[in-house]
Amino acid sequence: MQHEKILTLALLIIAGFGCNSKKTESTGDQNQQFDQYKNAFVEHMWEIYPGWASSQGYHKFDSVMFVPNAEYDTKQLAFANANLDSLKAFDLKKLSDNNKTDFYMIENQLKSIVWSINEMKSGEWNPASYNVSGEVAEMINNNYDSLDVRLHNLGIKMKNIPAYYEAATKNLKNPTVEHTELAIEQNMGGVSVFENDLVNALKESKLSDAEKSEISNQAKLAVGAIKSYVDFLKTMKNDSPRSFRLGEELYKKKFEFDIQSGYTADEVLAKAISHKKELHQKMAEISAKLWPKYFAGQEMPKDSMLLIRQMIDKLSLIHVHPDSFQIAIDKQIPVLVDFIKEKNLIYIDPSKPLVVRKEPDYMAGVAGASISAPGPYDKTGNTYYNVGSLSGWDKDRAESYLREYNQYILQILNIHEAIPGHYTQLVYANQSPSLIKSLLGSSSMVEGWAVYTERMMLEEGYGNNEPEMWLMYYKWNLRSTCNFILDNSVHTKNMSKEDALNLLTNEAFQQKTEAENKWRRVSLTSVQLCCYFTGYTEIYDLREEMKKKQGDKFKLKDWHEKFLSYGSAPVKYIRELMLEEKK
Ligand code: ZN
Ligand code: ZN
Repeated sequence: MQHEKILTLALLIIAGFGCNSKKTESTGDQNQQFDQYKNAFVEHMWEIYPGWASSQGYHKFDSVMFVPNAEYDTKQLAFANANLDSLKAFDLKKLSDNNKTDFYMIENQLKSIVWSINEMKSGEWNPASYNVSGEVAEMINNNYDSLDVRLHNLGIKMKNIPAYYEAATKNLKNPTVEHTELAIEQNMGGVSVFENDLVNALKESKLSDAEKSEISNQAKLAVGAIKSYVDFLKTMKNDSPRSFRLGEELYKKKFEFDIQSGYTADEVLAKAISHKKELHQKMAEISAKLWPKYFAGQEMPKDSMLLIRQMIDKLSLIHVHPDSFQIAIDKQIPVLVDFIKEKNLIYIDPSKPLVVRKEPDYMAGVAGASISAPGPYDKTGNTYYNVGSLSGWDKDRAESYLREYNQYILQILNIHEAIPGHYTQLVYANQSPSLIKSLLGSSSMVEGWAVYTERMMLEEGYGNNEPEMWLMYYKWNLRSTCNFILDNSVHTKNMSKEDALNLLTNEAFQQKTEAENKWRRVSLTSVQLCCYFTGYTEIYDLREEMKKKQGDKFKLKDWHEKFLSYGSAPVKYIRELMLEEKK
């Protein structure tokens, strides 16, 4: 599960935007006033980021598209600065825990907007930050309103597409080669949204013929604009393209804004490197112990990394049949719930059972498992555990997939995605509903919790302490550990592709394809891959700290429930509040 805030959906407003920061009196109920302020803040934010609003299920500004020019930057900065000013009117000490964390999260978001525009400037070097087809496809295919209403709004919105791409060509200075290639690929890929999806939708709609022909005219202009943009990217003179590596300075700040950790990136890096070493040691010990059981009579490799790899390859052969992939997951959920009850690890609300379903068609292709939760504006929606089907896969592909998600890893995946990982966290987060936390929630807290529960479950005896289970868990944990090392080293320490692939295949025991895909991901994104290990480390450290402080009084169940009661806030703020309470 990835949680990425997309703020690059730059589009022009015609109506003026007025953000009046009302001064709040320090007398009266600060919490009540802060609640009012938050509502106004979100509404303003949607005015400025209409594409993001639609993606969250808020459709009031569906017909608006901003042109990404200097005027739009000014508008965003005015919004951010006015709200930073408004925040000053509140006395943090008088706010409830929930409002305190919301306050910090809003402040972080606003500062991040200012920094993105003034320092990060990805609009100058990332041509892939310009793409309209995703938003357009969403309006055509998502049934949140009648087709005619959606198409009508889309018709108005599309009028700005030519200006949008023209502004994009003016903004670009020395784009990276990698993001230029991505932009060409993704923008060309998006043309079919206008040429197929939209054409078909217009056939079905009952709009007047005049409006239909107006919309298809806009669509043709949009396609023309996209193709010109792609031509521009293919032929633009770019003698000294920027490196895709973010560099130390920008990375440090981005890490601060996106991860909001109590540690610096360098501190977490040091932890990741020593954690990797520790994992290798443990894995070598287990592998040596298991060797006679699986390789009786064969000589054990002297090289410990080779030994670990052979053990992992052997254990990966133990997996379910392709036809029973979904059934296996289905059967696992009650087993996890029973274990948690038996060991008294956390309360699981029986009135909110998790619905396991076959992955819907529109998600097909991305096999595996994921949680779909309803957005913050759709309170009645179900939460599903989507499980991919392997039907139609050729034998080799299915086999390699099933070896990856073998009997052991599949269980760890269920812990991570479902219970007590993402799904359980979500149920708790919904109990103290905060629109701010659903919109600006900390990916590091959310992913960190899921990664933390994997280890916690095994520590509590899940899998009967079998060495096989632990070995495969360590391999899985190496993935998030190396994700951090990779991201940080590539973007701030000039790590070469060769060294990166070496890290992933030889030290994290990944397949070549997986490693190549990861290299692509790290050259197109930054900091994102850090959230898993950082959150996990912070949560684990906090737990151990409180265990020490409370001694005999420490109860794991209470600690878990208390920790989750703060919602998807950054761990460093939860830590502050939990430690404060204990005083
Ligand atoms: Zn996850
Ligand atoms: Zn097999």
